[in-house]
Amino acid sequence: MTDKKDARCYRCGKRLKNGGDNYRLECTIVADFDGYIDISDTPKGLEELVANIELSGLTEEELQEQVYYRLKRRLCHLCRDEIVKYMKGLNQDG
Ligand SMILES: [Zn+2]
Repeated sequence: MTDKKDARCYRCGKRLKNGGDNYRLECTIVADFDGYIDISDTPKGLEELVANIELSGLTEEELQEQVYYRLKRRLCHLCRDEIVKYMKGLNQDG
């Protein structure tokens, strides 16, 4: 993934110079599963749950990403600032 000869910002595509003011975004989003699944609504609760998953049309990879998603990307300084602002909830006007 990391080709140092042509490293570019993941967000804006700007070339990242060697020794430049570059950043690495490392993000993990994990499902906050509390161990509780409500399958008591119907006698066939678990079967319906499995059927709904199958009907969702999501691939195995997409289903896995709903539980655990990890992203590692390189960024320029400006995009780093924008992402930090967004994460702090400061991106909205006013
Ligand atoms: Zn950028």
